[in-house]
Amino acid sequence: MPNAQEASCVFCKIVSGEIQSKKLLDSENCIAISDLNPQAPTHLLVIPKDHYSDITQCQKSNLLGELFSQASALALKHSLNKGFRLVVNTGNEGGQTVHHLHIHVLGGRFMGWPPG
Ligand code: AMP
Ligand code: ZN
Repeated sequence: MPNAQEASCVFCKIVSGEIQSKKLLDSENCIAISDLNPQAPTHLLVIPKDHYSDITQCQKSNLLGELFSQASALALKHSLNKGFRLVVNTGNEGGQTVHHLHIHVLGGRFMGWPPG
């Protein structure tokens, strides 16, 4: 049984199917979905099936490697061959709003630097 935090976590609900969402990827360890509020023409999220509140809470380097390699493969699958950006917002000051580890895949426009 998930703990109380996981039970109220929107990404855990998407992983379990309690909230319906079209899965662009559904592998043993992770899913990918389109972001509800896209910040670029292509804005996808790669989400581990297990709940980690942020990247600092995940000690599994294999899983982190898989998430990044899936994110990169997904970017190419979505024709982002001119470039893309992977983002992992962490903590309140890092701009994280959903406290379940995820990687943003952003592309389809020029990405400025520094980010906001
Ligand atoms: P972050 O601010 O880095 O935690 O990113 C959370 C992202 O999740 C935001 O870009 C939201 O638009 C997105 N989001 C929140 N709820 C949903 C949902 N139900 N389906 C898809 N994306 C979502
Ligand atoms: Zn969760």
